[in-house]
This record gives sequence, C-alpha cells and structure tokens, in this order.
Amino acid sequence: NKFTDFKLNKNIIKALNNLEYKNPSKVQEKVIPKLINKEDTIVKSKTGSGKTASFAIPICENIDIENTNIQALIVVPTRELALQVKDEISNIGRLKKIRCSAIFGRQPIKEQISSLKQRVHVVVATPGRIIDHIQRKTINIQNINYLIIDEADKMLNKGFIEQIDIIFENSPSKKTIGLFSATIDKDIQYVSQKYMNNPSMVEI
Ligand code: AMP
Repeated sequence: NKFTDFKLNKNIIKALNNLEYKNPSKVQEKVIPKLINKEDTIVKSKTGSGKTASFAIPICENIDIENTNIQALIVVPTRELALQVKDEISNIGRLKKIRCSAIFGRQPIKEQISSLKQRVHVVVATPGRIIDHIQRKTINIQNINYLIIDEADKMLNKGFIEQIDIIFENSPSKKTIGLFSATIDKDIQYVSQKYMNNPSMVEI
C-alpha cells in the first residue's frame, strides 16, 4: 500500500515525502480511511506503531484552512507527548499551512491564551490544562470536527472520567472520535459507550 491510495491532498502527500514516510504502517493502513471517512474508531496499539500519523493525516486532510475555528482537539497524558504530537501535525500540515498549538500544565497560562488567540486549527492538550481553559472561556471547542484521545490508558487516574465529561459537554455532538489506548478497561468502555457512535475497533 501507498499513501497515494488514500487520495490525499497534494500538499499532504508532499509533506509525507519530505518526512520520508514511504508506506503507511499497519495501524495507518487501517485507521486513516476510517478517520478520513469520519467513523468513530477505537485503536488498541502502542507507541512506535506510527499511531500519531494515523490520526494526524486524516485531521490535516480534512482541515478547512480558511476556517479559523479550532477544528480538532487531541487530548494526551503528558507535556512530552503533547509536543511530539504537535510536531507531527505541524510537519504533516506544513505545506497546507495548518497551525497547531500545544497546551499543558506548569506553563504560564497567559502565554497559552495569546497562542490560542493566534487562531490555530488544531490544539493538542493535557486534560487538566484544557479544562482550565474551558472554564476560563479562553478556548472554544464548540466547532471541532475531530476529538482524539491519545494514550488514554495513561490518563486513567481518579479525575479522568470527570475531565472527559467536561470536554465532551463543551464540544459539539457531531464530531469524529478517535480513542487510542494500549489497554481497553472499564473507563475506556465507559467513554466509548457513552460518547462514541457505533465505533469500530482496530487492534494492532
Ligand atoms: P508513533 O508510534 O506515532 O510515535 O511513531 C513512531 C515513529 O515512526 C515516529 O518517529 C514517526 O515519525 C515514524 N513514522 C510514523 N509513520 C511512519 C511511516 N509511515 N513511515 C516511516 N516512519 C513513520
């Protein structure tokens, strides 16, 4: 299989060439078509599988560059992962001129507020800090088309379900959800049953 099989925007194909991504990985082969077609998807896979690009490519493909609303939100457990995911989105979306911002805890909130005012298309965030911005009304996620929860198994602390509920309550009901987790336990099942629409499961 080749990336050109997915009929991606020329700028995305070019960016993938620049990254020297020649062929899609297993998880990318299965997940890219589903997320491009706006199907809710649960993905059981680990880091190193190329899972980041499996959601970054569909998101970048479907961003409307002229629309200045936040169109995709990716929730991740750590600052390190937020920065990695942001880099991947920025690289894949570079030629299409997609703007992406990473927001996480223990960083000045004022800087994040001004970065959010720059009109970004994609936000990558840790749960505590995104909720802080939602409650301060310094972020608007009412227009997102994609909500990705990455490495969900690493967020299963006490407050996870409450945080997820706040994020879903503040986002539109019509959106595509990608739930990525190494394990599928009770909390993950709760999220999928409560919020996902007939999700398919991809296991790598
Ligand atoms: P991830 O599992 O998303 O953390 O990706 C693991 C590594 O694989 C990262 O360094 C990516 O840049 C790289 N990668 C992702 N997709 C591909 C691909 N299709 N071809 C070559 N490398 C890739």
